[in-house]
Amino acid sequence: MELRRHLLTAEMLEPGTDRVIRTAIDVRIDPLTGHSSRILPERGLMPANEFDLAAFARENQPRCPFCPERINSLTPKLPPTIHPEGRIARGEAVLFPNLHSYSSHSCVSVYSPRLHHLPLEDMTERLVIDNLFTQVAYARAVMAADSESRWASINANHMLPSGSSLFHPHLQGIVDSQPTTLQKMLADVPAERFESYLKAERQTGERYLGDTGRVEWVVSFAPIAPAELRAFMKGISSPAELDEDLTAELGHGLTLALNAYAEMGFESFNLALYGAPVATDGYPLNLRLACRSNLKAFYRSDSTFLERLHWEGAVDLAPEVVAERIGGRFQE
Ligand SMILES: [Zn+2]
Repeated sequence: MELRRHLLTAEMLEPGTDRVIRTAIDVRIDPLTGHSSRILPERGLMPANEFDLAAFARENQPRCPFCPERINSLTPKLPPTIHPEGRIARGEAVLFPNLHSYSSHSCVSVYSPRLHHLPLEDMTERLVIDNLFTQVAYARAVMAADSESRWASINANHMLPSGSSLFHPHLQGIVDSQPTTLQKMLADVPAERFESYLKAERQTGERYLGDTGRVEWVVSFAPIAPAELRAFMKGISSPAELDEDLTAELGHGLTLALNAYAEMGFESFNLALYGAPVATDGYPLNLRLACRSNLKAFYRSDSTFLERLHWEGAVDLAPEVVAERIGGRFQE
């Protein structure tokens, strides 16, 4: 498979000198969905954090419904047809329905009620894996109770710039009869195209991060969002099919990625693990993980008319630079 790109040049006269200046724009086509993305020269679109997140956490903590003092009285419970105890717990993680539903079944799972503030450098494998386990158990329980709901995804809005309305870090699950746009697009991709894409990335090596056993990680060739990573799991198509070992392996990879984001100076991210119906032939369960703008007063959103209205990524952080910064941590 050829990874397609078009190199464009913008030409203009420099202010003050009238000297001709040229800017390179690298337009890349996503090999799976056909979305295009513009890789721009570095221009500081993702400024470093200059916000006291810990102080902000202390300020909003007294009203937080996910903290230990309030979680049992302020969060809803699952109906008994889905889970007899109303909430799904594993380790410190606790899962309950999302009061603000996005689908016929949507849930929230906190990494821990005690962790109101959880910076990315403090994400541990234990916290991530246990939280993933609650989401897998939820997807299975919903599918057992409601056979129409076959499309599951595990997602995250982490910190306000990512779209999170609640500060306390959590994952979100959706299990529904209706796929999202991207779930549908990805499920329609022929199985061979996933394989050819991964083969092309393994061969060039420029964006290939490694294989943790059954999960392969790459930096997106044509990212929608900054520092976007993708992971692929052959042989299963739904989060409901994640067994104990594979959940742990996925949690290990996610922790490596989130710790790498922390090292790169990021603190907000989005995650989507795109499930197709259980046993969809040839569809590898796969995810996208991407950074969002850092929190600061009057911050610039990284989601512009291009991303929102043209469905076109535009980033000034080249995927190959991201791969270099992440280095060999997925290869151990
Ligand atoms: Zn809290």
